[in-house]
Parts: sequence; C-alpha cells; structure tokens
Amino acid sequence: MKAVIVDEPFKLRIAEVPDPEIKKDDEVKIKVVAGGICGSDVGIYRGTNSLATYPRIIGHEYGGEVIEVGSAVTNVKVGDIVSVDPVRYCGHCYACTHGRHNVCNTLEVTGVHCDGGFAEYVVAPSEACYKLDTTKISKDLCGLVEPYSIGAEVNHRANTGEGDKVLVMGSGPIGVTIMQVAKARGAWVMMTDLVDERLAKAKDMGADVVVNVSKEDLKEVVMKYTDNEGATVVVDSVCSVDSFPQALDLACPAGRVVTLGTGNKPSAIAEVDVTKKELDVLGSRLSNFRFPEVIELFEKGAVTPEKLRTHTFHFTEAQKAFDFMKEHPEQVCKVALSFE
Ligand code: MN
Ligand code: ZN
Repeated sequence: MKAVIVDEPFKLRIAEVPDPEIKKDDEVKIKVVAGGICGSDVGIYRGTNSLATYPRIIGHEYGGEVIEVGSAVTNVKVGDIVSVDPVRYCGHCYACTHGRHNVCNTLEVTGVHCDGGFAEYVVAPSEACYKLDTTKISKDLCGLVEPYSIGAEVNHRANTGEGDKVLVMGSGPIGVTIMQVAKARGAWVMMTDLVDERLAKAKDMGADVVVNVSKEDLKEVVMKYTDNEGATVVVDSVCSVDSFPQALDLACPAGRVVTLGTGNKPSAIAEVDVTKKELDVLGSRLSNFRFPEVIELFEKGAVTPEKLRTHTFHFTEAQKAFDFMKEHPEQVCKVALSFE
C-alpha cells in the first residue's frame, strides 16, 4: 500500500509499504477514506514536535471503511464507516484507572509515537473505532471527528454551559471546534486572532464576538462584554509564552483557564495571579472518549465540520498540501486528505 511517511524533518514521501495485518482478535482493518492535517503533523514535518520519532507514517485524524474484523469484534462490522480515536493507553496506570486514559503514563498517539492513519489501510483496536451513520453524515467527514474531540474535551474540562462567557484565544481549527462545542452547550463565545480572514470564518461558524488583537485592546473588549468581571472561561489556543499569563489575566474571579499548548518555553507567571482569583487552571490533552458525543453533534448538525474543512488534497499530494498551508495560512482552516 501507499503511505505518507516523514523520514526526517522536511523529508516527506509517498512510500510503498507492506499492508498492515490483523494480529489480535479485537482488531479491525480499515480502508482509509479521509484524514485531516493537524498543526502537530506540521510540527512532525518541520521537526518541532518533540514527542515524535522518525521515520513515521503520520496522521492522527482519520477514518474509513471497515474491510476486515478480528473474531472478537462486536462493535463494528465490515462495510461500516468509522472514525478512529488515535489514543492508545495501558489501562493500569493511575490515570487509566481513574478515568483519564488520554493522559496514560505510557500514552501513545497513532501518527506521533507510532504509525498513523495517512495510509491506504490501517489496523486499529476495535474499541478505538466509532461508527458514523452515513445516512446523516457524509463519510468524507470521518477524518474530522478527532479535531472536534479536542474541542469537546476542552469543554468538559472547563464544564462550559449556559451562562458562561467563554473567551477562546486563537481562531485556528482547534479554536473553532472549541467555540462550536461551547455554543452547542449553550455558552456565549468570544474569539481572537491576528488575521481578519480567520476571524470572519470564526464569526461565520458561530462566534458571538470576534476581536482582532492587532487592532483592538483585548482586555478592554473582554471587560466591556463581561460587566467588567472577565471571562468565566478562557481557553488558550494561541499557546505562546505570552498567551498563558494573558489568559490568567482575562479570566474572572472563580473562573477557569484551559491550556492546550505543548511548548516547553516557560511563561512568566506570578503565583498570586492564580491564587487571588482562585482560578482553576486545567490542562486539556487529546480527548477522553469524546468520539461518541462528537459524532452525535455531527449527526444533529450542532457543529459544522464541512465548514471547518477549507481545502482537500489527494493523499498522494500531501507535500502540496503542507506547502499550501505554509504559503496561504490566511485561507486555510482545516486541510483534509482524500484517500479515494
Ligand atoms: Mn489534531
Ligand atoms: Zn495508562
């Protein structure tokens, strides 16, 4: 089969590799239909993802058609269209035994720590495969469940709901999924960015207020819309050295701040900034079994993955897709790969 392999930073190729085979009775073989390119795939390509090892078949946002199942598989059958959760966990560490397998002590993510989904075929544990009802959702959206699962996880961590005034810093694809899930849960959402095109997209997809932080004073705008209290929930999807302290500053007393970044450069934070407002600072990583609820949101039309996806390339043109993302960041939200 053909697969998208990154041999080392900046060396991507479409390689001929052996087809994967079912080795355990709970595994499923899938003919991949669609994938999504993530910022972390770009990080693997550019050599800035400290977690990745090479060479690697990339891709953790993917799904496809089940073509073979092991003898113990009961949740899916041949012919089903499924989305695949990329989280692989041990099941017996502290996190795993306390309902938090997405931060397993020996966590592996397909496409990062082990081979991923940008290939014609993948084999996955059946419990990581979630069926999509293709009478309600187009099968080519199966690669977009994973990015929305990130948005769902953030909203669970922050427990967003009616009455919340949520500030999502950054209007990239993940910022937009966070906003749409927050809206579906009844919250009011403000979003920021430096690029007007991305803000227009965020607004079009449902953001209540958008702020171009290169033109407006964000704190002033936040205070104006929150009776001078601050946002009840601040989500930092900018993930820069400065955005984390800023997120703490923009949250209201008793508010929640959610972090998503994987950068390892320290931010300057005074302990008092957390203490005085008794903030809950919550990390959010991958997702904790959020695929079923995301698929339900897709099926109900409560979120719009078809709008998240701005461009599609055939997987054999993955290099072109990565180049396009670099050259036209203002046009791109989610770039999808087609495998058909
Ligand atoms: Mn992703
Ligand atoms: Zn574990």
